[in-house]
Amino acid sequence: MSDKYDVVVIGAGPAGYVAAIRAAQLGLSTACVEQWLDDKGKVRLGGTCLNVGCIPSKALLDSSYKFAEARDHLAVHGIAIEGATIDVPAMLQRKDSIVDQLTGGIAGLFKHNGVTPVSGTGRVLAGARVEVTDKDGNVRELQAGNVIIAAGSVPVEIPPAPIDNEYIIDSTGALALSDVPQRLGVIGAGVIGLELGSVWNRLGSEVVMLEALDDFLPMMDVQIAREAAKIFKKQGLDIRLGTRVTGAEVKNGVVEVSYTSADGDEVETFDKLIVAVGRKPRSKELFASDSGLTLDERGYIFVNDYCETEAPHIFAVGDVVRGPMLAHKGSEEGIMVAERIAGKPAQMNYDCIPSVIYTHPEVAAVGKTEQELKADGTPYKSGVFPFAASGRALASNESEGMVKILAHADTDRVLGCHIVGPSAADLVQQVVIAMEFGSSAEDIGLTVFGHPTLSEAVHEAALAVDGHAIHIANRKKRK
Ligand code: FAD
Ligand code: NAD
Repeated sequence: MSDKYDVVVIGAGPAGYVAAIRAAQLGLSTACVEQWLDDKGKVRLGGTCLNVGCIPSKALLDSSYKFAEARDHLAVHGIAIEGATIDVPAMLQRKDSIVDQLTGGIAGLFKHNGVTPVSGTGRVLAGARVEVTDKDGNVRELQAGNVIIAAGSVPVEIPPAPIDNEYIIDSTGALALSDVPQRLGVIGAGVIGLELGSVWNRLGSEVVMLEALDDFLPMMDVQIAREAAKIFKKQGLDIRLGTRVTGAEVKNGVVEVSYTSADGDEVETFDKLIVAVGRKPRSKELFASDSGLTLDERGYIFVNDYCETEAPHIFAVGDVVRGPMLAHKGSEEGIMVAERIAGKPAQMNYDCIPSVIYTHPEVAAVGKTEQELKADGTPYKSGVFPFAASGRALASNESEGMVKILAHADTDRVLGCHIVGPSAADLVQQVVIAMEFGSSAEDIGLTVFGHPTLSEAVHEAALAVDGHAIHIANRKKRK
Protein backbone atom coordinates (compact mmCIF):
# COMPACT_ATOMS: atom_id res chain seq x y z
CA MET A 1 0.00 0.00 0.00
CA SER A 2 1.42 3.42 -0.98
CA ASP A 3 1.86 5.81 1.95
CA LYS A 4 1.46 8.91 -0.21
CA TYR A 5 -2.00 10.37 -0.88
CA ASP A 6 -3.44 13.57 -2.32
CA VAL A 7 -5.82 13.66 0.65
CA VAL A 8 -5.66 12.01 4.07
CA VAL A 9 -8.83 12.34 6.15
CA ILE A 10 -8.70 11.75 9.91
CA GLY A 11 -12.04 10.40 11.13
CA ALA A 12 -14.74 8.46 9.28
CA GLY A 13 -17.86 10.13 10.71
CA PRO A 14 -20.32 11.97 8.45
CA ALA A 15 -17.87 14.85 7.99
CA GLY A 16 -14.84 12.66 7.25
CA TYR A 17 -16.31 9.80 5.23
CA VAL A 18 -18.26 12.21 3.01
CA ALA A 19 -15.13 14.34 2.45
CA ALA A 20 -13.17 11.20 1.57
CA ILE A 21 -15.78 9.93 -0.90
CA ARG A 22 -16.10 13.35 -2.61
CA ALA A 23 -12.30 13.72 -2.82
CA ALA A 24 -12.03 10.28 -4.43
CA GLN A 25 -14.88 11.09 -6.84
CA LEU A 26 -12.86 14.12 -7.92
CA GLY A 27 -9.91 11.90 -8.84
CA LEU A 28 -7.78 12.55 -5.74
CA SER A 29 -6.01 9.55 -4.17
CA THR A 30 -7.59 9.41 -0.71
CA ALA A 31 -7.06 7.57 2.58
CA CYS A 32 -9.35 7.81 5.60
CA VAL A 33 -7.86 7.05 9.03
CA GLU A 34 -10.30 5.78 11.66
CA GLN A 35 -9.59 4.58 15.20
CA TRP A 36 -13.00 3.03 16.00
CA LEU A 37 -12.89 -0.77 16.14
CA ASP A 38 -15.74 -3.26 16.15
CA ASP A 39 -15.81 -6.15 18.62
CA LYS A 40 -13.74 -8.24 16.20
CA GLY A 41 -11.02 -5.58 16.09
CA LYS A 42 -11.93 -4.44 12.56
CA VAL A 43 -12.16 -0.75 11.64
CA ARG A 44 -15.67 0.64 12.15
CA LEU A 45 -16.76 3.49 9.87
CA GLY A 46 -19.57 6.05 10.29
CA GLY A 47 -18.46 7.86 13.46
CA THR A 48 -20.82 9.04 16.18
CA CYS A 49 -23.68 9.60 13.74
CA LEU A 50 -24.02 6.05 12.47
CA ASN A 51 -22.80 4.14 15.51
CA VAL A 52 -24.07 5.97 18.60
CA GLY A 53 -25.83 9.11 17.39
CA CYS A 54 -28.33 10.10 14.71
CA ILE A 55 -29.19 6.66 13.36
CA PRO A 56 -29.54 4.48 16.49
CA SER A 57 -31.43 7.27 18.27
CA LYS A 58 -33.89 7.58 15.38
CA ALA A 59 -34.31 3.80 15.28
CA LEU A 60 -35.31 3.83 18.97
CA LEU A 61 -37.47 6.92 18.53
CA ASP A 62 -39.39 5.20 15.75
CA SER A 63 -39.77 1.89 17.60
CA SER A 64 -40.88 3.57 20.80
CA TYR A 65 -43.31 5.82 18.94
CA LYS A 66 -44.90 2.84 17.21
CA PHE A 67 -45.34 1.22 20.61
CA ALA A 68 -46.84 4.38 22.14
CA GLU A 69 -49.13 4.73 19.14
CA ALA A 70 -50.37 1.16 19.45
CA ARG A 71 -50.91 1.59 23.17
CA ASP A 72 -52.31 5.12 23.34
CA HIS A 73 -53.29 6.64 20.01
CA LEU A 74 -55.16 4.10 17.92
CA ALA A 75 -58.44 3.97 19.83
CA VAL A 76 -59.46 7.27 18.23
CA HIS A 77 -59.27 5.52 14.84
CA GLY A 78 -61.50 2.76 16.15
CA ILE A 79 -58.61 0.34 16.51
CA ALA A 80 -58.37 -1.48 19.82
CA ILE A 81 -55.11 -3.10 20.77
CA GLU A 82 -55.12 -4.68 24.15
CA GLY A 83 -52.05 -5.58 26.10
CA ALA A 84 -49.43 -4.11 23.71
CA THR A 85 -46.01 -5.02 25.08
CA ILE A 86 -42.47 -3.98 24.25
CA ASP A 87 -39.63 -6.45 23.81
CA VAL A 88 -36.65 -4.21 24.60
CA PRO A 89 -33.92 -6.66 23.46
CA ALA A 90 -35.73 -7.06 20.10
CA MET A 91 -35.97 -3.28 19.76
CA LEU A 92 -32.23 -2.92 20.48
CA GLN A 93 -31.43 -5.75 18.09
CA ARG A 94 -33.30 -3.98 15.28
CA LYS A 95 -31.38 -0.77 16.03
CA ASP A 96 -28.05 -2.63 16.02
CA SER A 97 -28.75 -4.33 12.72
CA ILE A 98 -29.58 -0.97 11.07
CA VAL A 99 -26.31 0.42 12.42
CA ASP A 100 -24.38 -2.61 11.10
CA GLN A 101 -26.02 -2.30 7.71
CA LEU A 102 -25.17 1.39 7.39
CA THR A 103 -21.59 1.21 8.69
CA GLY A 104 -20.98 -1.74 6.35
CA GLY A 105 -22.48 0.40 3.59
CA ILE A 106 -19.79 3.05 4.10
CA ALA A 107 -17.13 0.37 3.71
CA GLY A 108 -18.80 -0.58 0.41
CA LEU A 109 -18.87 3.06 -0.73
CA PHE A 110 -15.17 3.44 0.14
CA LYS A 111 -14.38 0.38 -1.98
CA HIS A 112 -16.54 1.56 -4.86
CA ASN A 113 -14.96 5.03 -4.89
CA GLY A 114 -11.40 3.88 -4.22
CA VAL A 115 -10.98 5.39 -0.74
CA THR A 116 -8.36 3.49 1.30
CA PRO A 117 -9.52 2.94 4.90
CA VAL A 118 -6.63 2.98 7.38
CA SER A 119 -7.21 1.55 10.85
CA GLY A 120 -5.54 3.48 13.66
CA THR A 121 -5.28 6.77 15.49
CA GLY A 122 -4.12 9.68 13.35
CA ARG A 123 -2.03 12.63 14.47
CA VAL A 124 -1.05 15.57 12.28
CA LEU A 125 2.67 16.31 12.05
CA ALA A 126 4.34 19.38 10.53
CA GLY A 127 4.40 19.43 6.74
CA ALA A 128 0.98 17.80 6.23
CA ARG A 129 2.16 14.38 7.38
CA VAL A 130 -0.09 12.07 9.36
CA GLU A 131 1.26 9.64 11.91
CA VAL A 132 -0.97 6.59 12.40
CA THR A 133 -0.74 4.30 15.42
CA ASP A 134 -2.64 1.04 15.06
CA LYS A 135 -4.25 -1.04 17.83
CA ASP A 136 -1.02 -3.03 18.33
CA GLY A 137 1.03 0.13 18.76
CA ASN A 138 2.65 -0.01 15.29
CA VAL A 139 3.34 3.45 13.92
CA ARG A 140 3.43 4.46 10.26
CA GLU A 141 3.48 7.79 8.49
CA LEU A 142 1.27 8.92 5.62
CA GLN A 143 2.48 11.73 3.38
CA ALA A 144 -0.50 13.87 2.41
CA GLY A 145 -0.91 16.56 -0.19
CA ASN A 146 -3.76 17.76 2.01
CA VAL A 147 -5.11 16.71 5.40
CA ILE A 148 -8.78 16.95 6.42
CA ILE A 149 -9.32 16.60 10.16
CA ALA A 150 -12.79 15.28 11.04
CA ALA A 151 -12.23 13.90 14.54
CA GLY A 152 -15.70 14.80 15.83
CA SER A 153 -16.80 15.33 19.42
CA VAL A 154 -17.36 13.57 22.74
CA PRO A 155 -19.96 14.07 25.49
CA VAL A 156 -19.30 16.74 28.12
CA GLU A 157 -19.01 15.33 31.65
CA ILE A 158 -19.89 17.24 34.80
CA PRO A 159 -18.17 16.69 38.16
CA PRO A 160 -21.39 16.26 40.24
CA ALA A 161 -22.51 13.32 38.07
CA PRO A 162 -19.53 11.30 36.81
CA ILE A 163 -20.46 8.63 34.23
CA ASP A 164 -20.14 5.08 35.61
CA ASN A 165 -21.76 3.42 32.56
CA GLU A 166 -24.11 1.48 34.81
CA TYR A 167 -26.35 3.86 36.69
CA ILE A 168 -25.05 7.19 35.45
CA ILE A 169 -24.82 7.03 31.68
CA ASP A 170 -24.23 9.23 28.66
CA SER A 171 -26.15 9.14 25.37
CA THR A 172 -24.36 5.97 24.28
CA GLY A 173 -25.51 4.16 27.42
CA ALA A 174 -29.03 5.53 26.97
CA LEU A 175 -29.19 3.88 23.53
CA ALA A 176 -28.53 0.46 25.04
CA LEU A 177 -30.57 0.14 28.25
CA SER A 178 -31.59 -3.50 28.44
CA ASP A 179 -34.88 -2.77 30.17
CA VAL A 180 -37.16 0.16 30.86
CA PRO A 181 -36.14 2.06 34.01
CA GLN A 182 -39.07 2.85 36.23
CA ARG A 183 -37.71 6.30 37.08
CA LEU A 184 -35.30 7.96 34.69
CA GLY A 185 -33.44 11.17 35.46
CA VAL A 186 -31.97 13.27 32.67
CA ILE A 187 -29.54 16.12 33.28
CA GLY A 188 -29.97 18.60 30.42
CA ALA A 189 -33.24 19.29 28.58
CA GLY A 190 -31.48 19.83 25.23
CA VAL A 191 -31.68 17.83 22.04
CA ILE A 192 -30.34 14.52 23.36
CA GLY A 193 -32.25 14.78 26.63
CA LEU A 194 -35.54 15.36 24.81
CA GLU A 195 -35.00 12.65 22.19
CA LEU A 196 -33.75 9.90 24.51
CA GLY A 197 -36.01 11.03 27.35
CA SER A 198 -38.94 10.64 24.92
CA VAL A 199 -37.85 7.13 23.92
CA TRP A 200 -37.91 5.81 27.48
CA ASN A 201 -40.93 7.89 28.50
CA ARG A 202 -42.95 6.28 25.68
CA LEU A 203 -41.85 2.86 26.87
CA GLY A 204 -43.11 3.57 30.38
CA SER A 205 -40.37 5.39 32.33
CA GLU A 206 -41.30 8.27 34.55
CA VAL A 207 -38.88 10.89 33.20
CA VAL A 208 -37.62 13.90 35.16
CA MET A 209 -35.38 16.36 33.30
CA LEU A 210 -33.15 18.72 35.27
CA GLU A 211 -32.16 21.72 33.15
CA ALA A 212 -29.77 24.42 34.37
CA LEU A 213 -31.18 27.26 32.28
CA ASP A 214 -34.36 29.16 33.14
CA ASP A 215 -35.46 29.09 29.50
CA PHE A 216 -36.49 25.97 27.61
CA LEU A 217 -34.69 25.45 24.25
CA PRO A 218 -33.32 29.00 24.11
CA MET A 219 -31.84 28.49 20.63
CA MET A 220 -35.31 27.83 19.21
CA ASP A 221 -37.87 30.51 18.36
CA VAL A 222 -39.53 31.46 21.66
CA GLN A 223 -43.10 30.88 20.42
CA ILE A 224 -42.21 27.43 19.08
CA ALA A 225 -40.24 26.49 22.24
CA ARG A 226 -43.22 27.49 24.39
CA GLU A 227 -45.60 25.38 22.32
CA ALA A 228 -43.17 22.44 22.35
CA ALA A 229 -42.84 22.67 26.16
CA LYS A 230 -46.63 22.43 26.52
CA ILE A 231 -46.78 19.37 24.27
CA PHE A 232 -43.88 17.59 26.02
CA LYS A 233 -45.42 18.27 29.41
CA LYS A 234 -48.67 16.69 28.24
CA GLN A 235 -46.68 13.66 27.12
CA GLY A 236 -45.38 13.25 30.66
CA LEU A 237 -41.87 14.74 30.45
CA ASP A 238 -41.33 16.47 33.78
CA ILE A 239 -38.99 19.29 32.71
CA ARG A 240 -37.63 21.28 35.65
CA LEU A 241 -35.89 24.49 34.56
CA GLY A 242 -33.42 26.56 36.57
CA THR A 243 -31.99 23.60 38.48
CA ARG A 244 -28.37 23.06 39.53
CA VAL A 245 -27.29 19.48 40.10
CA THR A 246 -24.91 19.33 43.07
CA GLY A 247 -24.34 15.60 43.36
CA ALA A 248 -25.32 12.12 42.20
CA GLU A 249 -24.65 9.12 44.37
CA VAL A 250 -25.39 5.46 43.69
CA LYS A 251 -26.97 3.88 46.79
CA ASN A 252 -28.67 0.48 46.98
CA GLY A 253 -29.09 0.15 43.24
CA VAL A 254 -30.53 3.60 42.60
CA VAL A 255 -29.06 7.04 41.91
CA GLU A 256 -29.76 9.78 44.39
CA VAL A 257 -29.50 13.16 42.71
CA SER A 258 -29.23 16.35 44.74
CA TYR A 259 -30.02 19.65 43.11
CA THR A 260 -31.00 23.18 43.95
CA SER A 261 -33.82 25.13 42.37
CA ALA A 262 -35.90 28.20 43.18
CA ASP A 263 -37.67 25.98 45.74
CA GLY A 264 -34.40 25.26 47.59
CA ASP A 265 -32.39 22.05 47.95
CA GLU A 266 -34.04 18.91 46.57
CA VAL A 267 -33.26 15.21 46.21
CA GLU A 268 -34.68 12.78 43.63
CA THR A 269 -34.07 9.06 43.24
CA PHE A 270 -33.77 7.41 39.84
CA ASP A 271 -33.09 3.92 38.50
CA LYS A 272 -30.88 5.43 35.79
CA LEU A 273 -29.50 8.89 35.21
CA ILE A 274 -28.63 10.17 31.72
CA VAL A 275 -26.15 13.04 31.54
CA ALA A 276 -26.83 15.01 28.34
CA VAL A 277 -25.29 18.43 28.89
CA GLY A 278 -23.65 18.98 25.51
CA ARG A 279 -20.68 17.71 23.53
CA LYS A 280 -17.17 19.07 23.12
CA PRO A 281 -14.70 18.85 20.22
CA ARG A 282 -12.30 15.89 20.22
CA SER A 283 -9.29 18.07 19.55
CA LYS A 284 -6.79 16.83 22.16
CA GLU A 285 -3.66 14.96 21.04
CA LEU A 286 -4.66 15.40 17.41
CA PHE A 287 -1.66 17.34 16.22
CA ALA A 288 2.00 17.99 17.02
CA SER A 289 2.84 21.37 18.51
CA ASP A 290 4.84 22.37 15.41
CA SER A 291 2.04 21.44 12.98
CA GLY A 292 0.85 25.05 12.81
CA LEU A 293 -2.68 24.23 14.06
CA THR A 294 -4.34 26.20 16.83
CA LEU A 295 -7.46 25.81 18.97
CA ASP A 296 -9.95 28.57 19.64
CA GLU A 297 -10.92 29.55 23.19
CA ARG A 298 -13.54 26.75 23.35
CA GLY A 299 -11.18 24.00 22.19
CA TYR A 300 -12.35 23.82 18.57
CA ILE A 301 -9.72 23.65 15.83
CA PHE A 302 -9.48 27.18 14.50
CA VAL A 303 -10.71 27.48 10.89
CA ASN A 304 -11.98 30.19 8.54
CA ASP A 305 -15.25 30.10 6.53
CA TYR A 306 -13.65 27.64 4.10
CA CYS A 307 -12.57 25.27 6.90
CA GLU A 308 -8.91 26.14 6.29
CA THR A 309 -6.77 25.95 9.43
CA GLU A 310 -3.82 28.22 10.02
CA ALA A 311 -1.47 25.59 8.54
CA PRO A 312 -1.27 25.31 4.74
CA HIS A 313 -3.04 22.27 3.19
CA ILE A 314 -4.66 21.32 6.49
CA PHE A 315 -8.43 21.62 6.83
CA ALA A 316 -10.86 20.72 9.61
CA VAL A 317 -14.58 19.96 9.35
CA GLY A 318 -17.57 18.78 11.38
CA ASP A 319 -17.99 18.76 15.16
CA VAL A 320 -14.29 19.49 15.73
CA VAL A 321 -14.79 23.04 14.38
CA ARG A 322 -17.16 25.91 15.27
CA GLY A 323 -20.83 25.87 14.27
CA PRO A 324 -23.73 23.58 15.13
CA MET A 325 -22.85 19.98 15.94
CA LEU A 326 -24.96 18.44 13.22
CA ALA A 327 -24.12 15.59 10.88
CA HIS A 328 -25.30 17.42 7.74
CA LYS A 329 -23.29 20.54 8.62
CA GLY A 330 -20.11 18.43 8.80
CA SER A 331 -20.91 16.53 5.61
CA GLU A 332 -21.43 19.75 3.64
CA GLU A 333 -18.16 21.15 5.01
CA GLY A 334 -16.45 17.92 3.95
CA ILE A 335 -17.79 18.28 0.41
CA MET A 336 -16.80 21.95 0.27
CA VAL A 337 -13.23 21.19 1.36
CA ALA A 338 -12.81 18.24 -1.05
CA GLU A 339 -14.04 20.42 -3.91
CA ARG A 340 -11.78 23.33 -2.98
CA ILE A 341 -8.78 20.97 -2.83
CA ALA A 342 -9.74 19.86 -6.35
CA GLY A 343 -9.76 23.52 -7.46
CA LYS A 344 -13.53 24.11 -7.47
CA PRO A 345 -14.92 27.38 -6.02
CA ALA A 346 -17.14 25.72 -3.40
CA GLN A 347 -18.53 27.51 -0.35
CA MET A 348 -21.04 26.91 2.46
CA ASN A 349 -24.11 28.90 3.39
CA TYR A 350 -23.96 28.83 7.19
CA ASP A 351 -27.18 30.88 7.39
CA CYS A 352 -29.24 28.07 5.96
CA ILE A 353 -28.54 24.98 8.06
CA PRO A 354 -31.70 23.23 9.29
CA SER A 355 -31.85 21.70 12.75
CA VAL A 356 -34.39 19.23 14.06
CA ILE A 357 -35.36 17.65 17.36
CA TYR A 358 -36.88 14.27 16.53
CA THR A 359 -39.49 14.19 19.26
CA HIS A 360 -43.12 13.57 18.36
CA PRO A 361 -44.13 15.99 17.11
CA GLU A 362 -40.80 17.13 15.72
CA VAL A 363 -39.32 20.57 16.28
CA ALA A 364 -37.49 22.03 13.27
CA ALA A 365 -35.87 25.32 12.41
CA VAL A 366 -33.85 27.18 9.83
CA GLY A 367 -32.58 30.76 9.78
CA LYS A 368 -33.27 33.49 12.28
CA THR A 369 -35.63 33.28 15.25
CA GLU A 370 -38.04 36.09 16.08
CA GLN A 371 -36.00 37.02 19.16
CA GLU A 372 -32.80 37.22 17.07
CA LEU A 373 -34.46 39.52 14.54
CA LYS A 374 -35.75 41.71 17.37
CA ALA A 375 -32.32 41.81 19.00
CA ASP A 376 -30.46 42.82 15.84
CA GLY A 377 -33.10 45.37 14.86
CA THR A 378 -34.10 43.71 11.56
CA PRO A 379 -37.59 44.82 10.47
CA TYR A 380 -39.61 41.63 10.04
CA LYS A 381 -43.09 40.26 9.60
CA SER A 382 -44.31 36.84 10.60
CA GLY A 383 -46.92 34.34 9.45
CA VAL A 384 -48.16 31.50 11.63
CA PHE A 385 -50.38 28.60 10.64
CA PRO A 386 -51.58 26.07 13.23
CA PHE A 387 -51.81 22.39 12.28
CA ALA A 388 -55.23 22.39 13.96
CA ALA A 389 -56.45 24.16 10.79
CA SER A 390 -54.83 21.64 8.42
CA GLY A 391 -57.22 19.09 6.94
CA ARG A 392 -54.45 16.55 6.49
CA ALA A 393 -53.14 16.98 10.04
CA LEU A 394 -56.64 16.46 11.43
CA ALA A 395 -57.21 13.43 9.19
CA SER A 396 -54.02 11.94 10.61
CA ASN A 397 -54.86 12.91 14.21
CA GLU A 398 -51.63 14.97 14.27
CA SER A 399 -52.96 18.46 14.77
CA GLU A 400 -50.64 19.80 17.48
CA GLY A 401 -48.22 22.61 16.70
CA MET A 402 -47.70 25.23 14.03
CA VAL A 403 -45.56 26.54 11.19
CA LYS A 404 -44.08 30.01 11.54
CA ILE A 405 -42.36 31.90 8.73
CA LEU A 406 -40.39 35.10 9.27
CA ALA A 407 -39.70 37.47 6.39
CA HIS A 408 -38.00 40.84 6.01
CA ALA A 409 -40.58 43.62 6.43
CA ASP A 410 -39.31 45.60 3.43
CA THR A 411 -38.00 43.00 0.97
CA ASP A 412 -40.27 40.07 1.94
CA ARG A 413 -37.19 37.77 1.77
CA VAL A 414 -37.68 34.69 3.96
CA LEU A 415 -35.37 34.93 6.98
CA GLY A 416 -36.45 31.92 9.01
CA CYS A 417 -38.91 29.10 9.46
CA HIS A 418 -39.79 27.42 12.75
CA ILE A 419 -42.05 24.43 13.13
CA VAL A 420 -43.34 22.24 15.89
CA GLY A 421 -45.61 19.64 14.42
CA PRO A 422 -45.96 16.46 12.38
CA SER A 423 -43.12 15.82 9.90
CA ALA A 424 -41.53 19.15 10.81
CA ALA A 425 -38.11 17.79 9.74
CA ASP A 426 -39.29 17.28 6.18
CA LEU A 427 -41.48 20.37 6.03
CA VAL A 428 -38.71 22.75 7.07
CA GLN A 429 -36.57 21.45 4.21
CA GLN A 430 -38.97 23.08 1.73
CA VAL A 431 -38.18 26.45 3.28
CA VAL A 432 -34.44 25.64 3.38
CA ILE A 433 -34.55 25.25 -0.41
CA ALA A 434 -36.61 28.43 -0.77
CA MET A 435 -34.12 30.36 1.38
CA GLU A 436 -31.16 28.98 -0.62
CA PHE A 437 -32.77 30.51 -3.70
CA GLY A 438 -33.38 33.84 -1.97
CA SER A 439 -37.14 33.32 -2.03
CA SER A 440 -39.68 35.79 -0.70
CA ALA A 441 -42.68 34.73 1.38
CA GLU A 442 -44.78 35.71 -1.63
CA ASP A 443 -42.83 33.24 -3.82
CA ILE A 444 -43.83 30.41 -1.47
CA GLY A 445 -47.37 31.77 -1.38
CA LEU A 446 -47.52 31.73 -5.20
CA THR A 447 -46.32 28.10 -5.35
CA VAL A 448 -48.94 25.38 -5.85
CA PHE A 449 -49.03 22.86 -2.98
CA GLY A 450 -50.78 19.51 -3.29
CA HIS A 451 -53.95 18.93 -1.29
CA PRO A 452 -54.36 17.49 1.26
CA THR A 453 -50.78 17.60 2.55
CA LEU A 454 -49.02 18.76 5.69
CA SER A 455 -46.99 20.98 3.34
CA GLU A 456 -50.05 23.15 2.91
CA ALA A 457 -49.29 24.47 6.40
CA VAL A 458 -46.02 25.90 5.02
CA HIS A 459 -47.95 27.49 2.15
CA GLU A 460 -50.52 28.98 4.49
CA ALA A 461 -47.86 30.30 6.90
CA ALA A 462 -46.20 32.03 3.93
CA LEU A 463 -49.56 33.53 2.93
CA ALA A 464 -50.15 34.57 6.56
CA VAL A 465 -46.97 36.68 6.45
CA ASP A 466 -49.00 39.23 4.47
CA GLY A 467 -52.37 38.42 6.01
CA HIS A 468 -53.58 36.29 3.06
CA ALA A 469 -53.92 32.86 4.69
CA ILE A 470 -57.12 31.23 3.51
CA HIS A 471 -57.88 28.66 6.19
CA ILE A 472 -57.45 30.83 9.31
CA ALA A 473 -58.75 34.22 10.32
CA ASN A 474 -55.80 36.53 9.58
CA ARG A 475 -54.84 38.83 12.42
CA LYS A 476 -53.64 41.51 10.02
CA LYS A 477 -55.71 41.93 6.89
CA ARG A 478 -53.95 43.20 3.79
CA LYS A 479 -55.15 43.31 0.21
P1 FAD B 1 -18.04 12.04 14.46
O1 FAD B 1 -19.29 11.49 13.92
O2 FAD B 1 -17.89 12.14 15.93
O3 FAD B 1 -16.88 11.17 13.84
C1 FAD B 1 -15.55 11.39 14.16
C2 FAD B 1 -14.78 10.11 13.88
O4 FAD B 1 -13.40 10.38 13.99
C3 FAD B 1 -15.10 9.00 14.87
O5 FAD B 1 -15.39 7.81 14.16
C4 FAD B 1 -13.81 8.84 15.68
O6 FAD B 1 -13.57 7.52 16.10
C5 FAD B 1 -12.77 9.30 14.68
N1 FAD B 1 -11.55 9.83 15.27
C6 FAD B 1 -11.43 10.78 16.23
N2 FAD B 1 -10.14 11.07 16.47
C7 FAD B 1 -9.42 10.27 15.64
C8 FAD B 1 -8.04 10.10 15.40
N3 FAD B 1 -7.13 10.82 16.07
N4 FAD B 1 -7.65 9.19 14.49
C9 FAD B 1 -8.57 8.44 13.82
N5 FAD B 1 -9.90 8.57 13.99
C10 FAD B 1 -10.30 9.48 14.88
N6 FAD B 1 -26.87 15.17 14.31
C11 FAD B 1 -27.81 15.37 13.36
O7 FAD B 1 -27.57 16.13 12.41
N7 FAD B 1 -29.02 14.75 13.42
C12 FAD B 1 -29.33 13.91 14.43
O8 FAD B 1 -30.43 13.36 14.45
C13 FAD B 1 -28.37 13.68 15.43
N8 FAD B 1 -28.64 12.84 16.45
C14 FAD B 1 -27.67 12.60 17.40
C15 FAD B 1 -27.97 11.74 18.44
C16 FAD B 1 -27.02 11.49 19.42
C17 FAD B 1 -27.36 10.54 20.55
C18 FAD B 1 -25.74 12.09 19.33
C19 FAD B 1 -24.69 11.79 20.35
C20 FAD B 1 -25.44 12.95 18.29
C21 FAD B 1 -26.41 13.22 17.32
N9 FAD B 1 -26.17 14.10 16.28
C22 FAD B 1 -27.12 14.34 15.34
C23 FAD B 1 -24.88 14.79 16.14
C24 FAD B 1 -24.02 14.05 15.09
O9 FAD B 1 -23.87 12.71 15.48
C25 FAD B 1 -22.66 14.72 14.96
O10 FAD B 1 -22.86 16.10 14.67
C26 FAD B 1 -21.86 14.09 13.85
O11 FAD B 1 -21.66 12.72 14.07
C27 FAD B 1 -20.51 14.78 13.73
O12 FAD B 1 -19.82 14.24 12.66
P2 FAD B 1 -18.22 14.27 12.60
O13 FAD B 1 -17.86 13.46 11.39
O14 FAD B 1 -17.74 15.64 12.73
O15 FAD B 1 -17.75 13.50 13.91
P1 NAD C 1 -27.53 20.49 23.98
O1 NAD C 1 -26.63 21.64 23.96
O2 NAD C 1 -28.60 20.38 22.95
O3 NAD C 1 -28.29 20.40 25.37
C1 NAD C 1 -27.62 20.37 26.59
C2 NAD C 1 -28.52 20.96 27.65
O4 NAD C 1 -27.94 20.73 28.90
C3 NAD C 1 -28.69 22.46 27.50
O5 NAD C 1 -30.06 22.79 27.57
C4 NAD C 1 -27.90 23.03 28.66
O6 NAD C 1 -28.41 24.24 29.14
C5 NAD C 1 -28.05 21.91 29.67
N1 NAD C 1 -26.99 21.87 30.67
C6 NAD C 1 -25.67 22.10 30.52
N2 NAD C 1 -25.01 21.90 31.69
C7 NAD C 1 -25.95 21.53 32.59
C8 NAD C 1 -25.90 21.18 33.97
N3 NAD C 1 -24.75 21.15 34.64
N4 NAD C 1 -27.06 20.85 34.58
C9 NAD C 1 -28.24 20.85 33.91
N5 NAD C 1 -28.34 21.19 32.61
C10 NAD C 1 -27.21 21.50 31.95
O7 NAD C 1 -26.57 19.20 23.99
P2 NAD C 1 -26.92 17.67 23.89
O8 NAD C 1 -28.38 17.46 24.00
O9 NAD C 1 -26.00 16.99 24.83
O10 NAD C 1 -26.48 17.34 22.42
C11 NAD C 1 -25.10 17.54 22.03
C12 NAD C 1 -25.01 17.92 20.59
O11 NAD C 1 -25.41 16.85 19.76
C13 NAD C 1 -25.88 19.11 20.29
O12 NAD C 1 -25.05 20.15 19.83
C14 NAD C 1 -26.79 18.68 19.21
O13 NAD C 1 -26.82 19.58 18.14
C15 NAD C 1 -26.25 17.34 18.73
N6 NAD C 1 -27.41 16.46 18.56
C16 NAD C 1 -28.26 16.74 17.53
C17 NAD C 1 -29.41 16.00 17.39
C18 NAD C 1 -30.33 16.32 16.26
O14 NAD C 1 -29.92 17.01 15.35
N7 NAD C 1 -31.56 15.84 16.28
C19 NAD C 1 -29.71 14.99 18.28
C20 NAD C 1 -28.83 14.76 19.32
C21 NAD C 1 -27.68 15.50 19.45
